Amino acid sequence: MADVFIGLEIHIQLLTRSKVFCSCPADFGREPNTNVCPVCLGYPGVLPVLNREALQQAYMTGLALHCTMAQRALFDRKNYFYPDMAKNYQISQFSHPLGVNGWIEFDTQGERRRIRIHDIHLEEDAGKMIHTAEGAQLDYNRAGCSLLEIVTEPDFSSGREAEEFLQAFRTMVRFLGVCSGNMEEGSLRCDANVSVNHPGKGLGTKVEIKNLNSSRFVRKALEYEIRRQSRLLRTGRKIVQETRLWDEKRGRSESMRTKEEAHDYRYFPEPDLPPFWLDERFVQEAEDRMTELPLQVFDRYLREYQLPEDTARYLAEERSRCRFFEQTMEYYHHAKTAGSWIKEEPAAVGGPESGRVTPEHFAGLLKLCDEKAVTVQQAKEVLRLMGETGDAPEAIIEQEQLQGGVAEDELKAIIELVISRHPDTVKQIHDGNVKAVGFLMGKVMQESRGAADPLQAKAYLLEAMGISEAD
Ligand code: ADP
Ligand code: ZN
Ligand code: MG
Repeated sequence: MADVFIGLEIHIQLLTRSKVFCSCPADFGREPNTNVCPVCLGYPGVLPVLNREALQQAYMTGLALHCTMAQRALFDRKNYFYPDMAKNYQISQFSHPLGVNGWIEFDTQGERRRIRIHDIHLEEDAGKMIHTAEGAQLDYNRAGCSLLEIVTEPDFSSGREAEEFLQAFRTMVRFLGVCSGNMEEGSLRCDANVSVNHPGKGLGTKVEIKNLNSSRFVRKALEYEIRRQSRLLRTGRKIVQETRLWDEKRGRSESMRTKEEAHDYRYFPEPDLPPFWLDERFVQEAEDRMTELPLQVFDRYLREYQLPEDTARYLAEERSRCRFFEQTMEYYHHAKTAGSWIKEEPAAVGGPESGRVTPEHFAGLLKLCDEKAVTVQQAKEVLRLMGETGDAPEAIIEQEQLQGGVAEDELKAIIELVISRHPDTVKQIHDGNVKAVGFLMGKVMQESRGAADPLQAKAYLLEAMGISEAD
């Protein structure tokens, strides 16, 4: 066995309307090179101006990560040439990062773990190079967008842990409202550093892996790299410090550059940006904007409402769900029922993309369901219609005549109808295909618009086909 050390470098695009040092819009999906100006294209003689909102969001992230926060925001130039960076340098924070020495907890495989944060620093994003058949093309729309880098200490010891951390981290920044967290679109990116060493020997030689655009790839790339390094270690060969690129299609990584080819960035203080003082007003504002974090919400839901863990976890994934759940609880008292309905009916309630159901109407429906005024099946149909119309449950039940149960003879009539419509299925059932009963049951439930009691309906259905339950 060997010891494994993993540290992550995470980049998040902050949710600011304009870029970090100019007033260009920071939105996605525009025509290439339309969100640009002399500042983000690095024309000579232009001056950057710091976006206060970017700094606010970065500061909030630092608070969430329990960092010791700087009193002044200071920037440095990181010099290097790359076609996607028209200025030939990137404004970043090197000597005085915005926050240092933080920590954050997350749950992994039933256990709460604490990860140390080395630092967080604010910087500008680069443009995008797109490789086409005609050659490379450049889109500078993203150049100069606000980017926050979060560097963890090498505290993870498996690919799975790193993957689960990233998912929890993503949930957290979405909760805070500082990042959309979309890894496919690149608004959350991650480089993974890993070393494997003989037990008890401490950190080994670090390899950095890039090009990881989903948390699953992070796990796969780390697992691959841990295997590769373990093999080298076992056979007494040298592990080279290098940067490797993950190739998802081939399920392997390949060396991109070794330490000897590493950049010398020649950092120096950015002369065009005066220090920005994080005064009392600035700090107070960031503190006031802080919300409870997902893990705190999760703990509170277990404590306050005795919710099952999976329900609490589901609700605590999105602020909109929490809000909906808590507002529902102002009108309704069975937390577990409300929670599981929100979890099971995400298209109808709790999500930003869900329908027009208000927490009050939703609570009303749950009460009607508890009183057995409607069956669960009917309640689901009512909920769907509530999402479409925004009407109160009582109004929909009245209008659609969806109130509880079906009379016995009505149910029997429905069953006769279904049987007469599906002679082939009935024959299959008689030939021994028991599974086909489910199909007929579905039809019966549909015909009764969910009003039938499934157990009773099934008993009648089998009886009508001359089959005894025991068969
Ligand atoms: P660099 O100077 O090459 O950027 P840093 O010391 O700044 O390296 O660390 C970058 C990332 O690599 C951090 O997330 C850190 O936790 C991680 N890291 C550093 N050394 C090791 C190591 N020996 N093994 C695994 N991860 C490491
Ligand atoms: Zn610009
Ligand atoms: Mg570093």
